[in-house]
Amino acid sequence: MEKNKCIFLDRDGTINVYKGLISRPEDLELEKNAAEAIKMINESEYLCIVVSNQPVVAKNLCSLEELWRINDRLRKLLEEKGAYLDDIFVCPHHPDKGYPGENTEFKIRCNCRKPDIGMIEMARQKYNIDLSKSYIIGDSTIDIQTGINCNMKTILVKTGLGGSDKIYRVCPDYIANNLYEAVNLILGDKPKWNY
Ligand SMILES: [Zn+2]
Repeated sequence: MEKNKCIFLDRDGTINVYKGLISRPEDLELEKNAAEAIKMINESEYLCIVVSNQPVVAKNLCSLEELWRINDRLRKLLEEKGAYLDDIFVCPHHPDKGYPGENTEFKIRCNCRKPDIGMIEMARQKYNIDLSKSYIIGDSTIDIQTGINCNMKTILVKTGLGGSDKIYRVCPDYIANNLYEAVNLILGDKPKWNY
C-alpha cells in the first residue's frame, strides 16, 4: 500500500498569532492567510496534522477540556474559510516539577513533548505516513529539531518566535515569511529549491 505524505504544522506562532501560552479560546486568532495555506494542503496529496506542545495544562492555566475547546475554535475558524485539519496531536506535559499550583498529573517527563518524536510517531502509525517525504513547519528551533529527529524536511516561519527561541542550534532546510509562503514552497508551481 502506498504510504501517505504529511505536512506537520506547529500551532501557536505558525497557524495562529503568537500570544505566549493560550489558555482561553477567544485568545486564538489566525495568522494572515493561514487558512488559505491549509486549504492548499487540503487540496494537495499531503495530510495536514498539527503537533503542539501545550504545557498550559501541566502549568494548570487551563484544563484538558479547555484545551480541546481552544482546538475546537481553531478548527471552527479554519472551517469558516473552507480549510480543515486531518488531526491535532498535543503534548499537555511539562518536565519541570515543583511550581505552586501546578497540575502534578501532567508534570512528567514524556516522549511526546517536541523535540521528542512521540506525537509524530503516533501520527505516522495512525495514518501510515512516510516521514522521509513529509515536512514540518514551525516558528521555533524546537520544531526544526523535531523534524531533524525524524528525518523530515523542515521549514522555519518568521511569524511568532521566528526562531528567536534559539534553544537548539539548528539550521532549517528553508525559511519562509509565513505559513502561506512555506506551503507555497512545498506545493507552488514555481521552481522551489533553486536557492
Ligand atoms: Zn508529552
